[in-house]
Amino acid sequence: MERIKGLSNFHTHCGLDDGVGTMEEYVLSALSKGFGALGFSCHAPGSLEDQWHMDKKDFPYYLEEIDRLRTLYRDRLEIYVGLELDYLEDTEELVGSEYRDQLDYTIASVHLMRHTKSGTYLSIDGPVVEFEALLQDNFRGDIQKFATHYFTLQERMIAQHNFDLLGHCDLMKKLNTDNKYFDPNSTWYRKAASHLLKVASKHNVRIEVNTGGISRGATTEPYPSMDMLSECSELGIPVTLSSDAHQSSHIDFYFSQADDQLVQVGYRNLDVLQHGMWQTVSIV
Ligand SMILES: [Zn+2]
Ligand SMILES: [Zn+2]
Repeated sequence: MERIKGLSNFHTHCGLDDGVGTMEEYVLSALSKGFGALGFSCHAPGSLEDQWHMDKKDFPYYLEEIDRLRTLYRDRLEIYVGLELDYLEDTEELVGSEYRDQLDYTIASVHLMRHTKSGTYLSIDGPVVEFEALLQDNFRGDIQKFATHYFTLQERMIAQHNFDLLGHCDLMKKLNTDNKYFDPNSTWYRKAASHLLKVASKHNVRIEVNTGGISRGATTEPYPSMDMLSECSELGIPVTLSSDAHQSSHIDFYFSQADDQLVQVGYRNLDVLQHGMWQTVSIV
């Protein structure tokens, strides 16, 4: 088995969505850090037209530019094109799935819930006014119902769709600094999180260990938490390591610590895209 240590990242944004900088800046950063592979995963264009999803008109350029960079740096770096797709709870669509044929891989994420009062989709990972509106108006302030619903939505997405990576599966904790809203050790929370992991395992889902919450100063640990990661290991769930980079200097953010944490909970391998296929590589 080939050995690799933190030298790839398949969750990368850029200036075409809510990241900053050109794609070439991320490629150059990857080269400077000795990466073997880099994948781009902008927020998919589609029915969601807002500040953080890629504009539909930019998608052809996204493909062309990645193709240009892939050719330009082909001797030094494998470059892959993906998208981060959003699950919508009322239509049950995975936004961006229609681009699947033009992509090397997809990340499926739940960021949004339908706000019953306004009829619009609001984010669970900020701004905080959106989180609060969902909590108060959809769940009458009941954080247990809110968080449990978040995990349930991911279970529905897993049952209904195919994708390569499940994105930041406990994103619900992003605004929970100092356990402001809930205690992640409470029985109900652990049960809901554990149920998701069992469903993921049953459907052979690959989960990402995502350090993006730390680089943004929102969390002190990756998604998923060490408790969840430990259970992932017990269930034999394959994982990737990604940084959810929104700036080029973050493409390997917290990777060495996350590698150590993976080993600590029992992982010996990571999944990476290599030579056009998902492959298992050793991290020890
Ligand atoms: Zn995301
Ligand atoms: Zn992302």
